[in-house]
Amino acid sequence: MFRKDLIPLLLDREMTVDEISRIAEQKGKTTTEDLQHLLKSLRHTAYQALITPAKCRKCDFTFGTDKLRKPSKCPKCNGTWISEPRIKITGKNS
Ligand SMILES: [Zn+2]
Repeated sequence: MFRKDLIPLLLDREMTVDEISRIAEQKGKTTTEDLQHLLKSLRHTAYQALITPAKCRKCDFTFGTDKLRKPSKCPKCNGTWISEPRIKITGKNS
């Protein structure tokens, strides 16, 4: 998938890496790499990315926004009931 296509896909719409991968018909790892490059290049555009970080549903531990995919385990309680991080793009002036 072309990185520029990620902007219209995610514009004002929150999606997980898995959802994007399904639409782009590519592996989650590839989507993660595409997103990481996109997040860097967005700095020079009229868009910004909003990341809802992954969260442990058991103890409420919140992961960093650098994690774009669902972590396998919570470092605090070792729980595996973790919500997926979601990525969204908005216009900087909206
Ligand atoms: Zn936890």
